[in-house]
Amino acid sequence: MILAREPKSASDQAARICRVIEACRNAIAAQEAHLCDLDCAIGDGDHGTNMRRGLEALAAERQQLAAMPVPEAMIAAGTILVMSIGGAAGPLYGTLLLEIGKGLAAEPPPAKFPDVFQQAVAAVARRGKSHPGEKTLLDVLYPFSEAVISDTPLQQLAEQAQGFADMTIDMKAMRGRASFLGDRSVGHMDPGAASCALLCQVVCHELAKAGAA
Ligand code: ADP
Ligand code: MG
Repeated sequence: MILAREPKSASDQAARICRVIEACRNAIAAQEAHLCDLDCAIGDGDHGTNMRRGLEALAAERQQLAAMPVPEAMIAAGTILVMSIGGAAGPLYGTLLLEIGKGLAAEPPPAKFPDVFQQAVAAVARRGKSHPGEKTLLDVLYPFSEAVISDTPLQQLAEQAQGFADMTIDMKAMRGRASFLGDRSVGHMDPGAASCALLCQVVCHELAKAGAA
């Protein structure tokens, strides 16, 4: 899935990459205040601002990224996110894209995109020294990658992503600033899980539209 619906031409692919980046930027901008509110409850209130800065930086480079082969574009995009999001989330989102790019560029090529994605999520877990169940963005990424491996259709993937973020409400934070609150972190959605679910949804919707086109 995901990369299985091949674009018809290089210009189609470039247009698709631009649309995905723009849609992500717009969705994060629309949810900036909400993401900051979530982070105010269990962190320092900057997650929406951090993510908006990151997606603005990515959007500013979209034409150049779209002109690159996909693996190189992923590596370049990951580097931009590391440098622009900042905070705890920047290196984690950056690692995800960098590792996807490296996986896609690997020789011999890996079996399929789902395997590359799953390995990239494992790299994010190593980077954060974290595991699913610890109330972080991994609580979206990990089950989402399992659903991708299972060849779940894009529309269902998008629906499931929000459910994964919702499940962080009942979790106790074990990583990042929210972990300082201990039991008081329970009852709030993790902001990183919320931004991650949003981005997963947007990418799925855009790819579904591209597949239907
Ligand atoms: P900061 O915590 O530095 O202010 P952000 O507010 O941008 O950074 O990001 C916070 C989010 O980062 C959390 O909601 C969580 O999802 C994620 N996060 C923080 N630390 C870790 C970690 N060690 N592993 C995985 N995710 C983490
Ligand atoms: Mg924060």
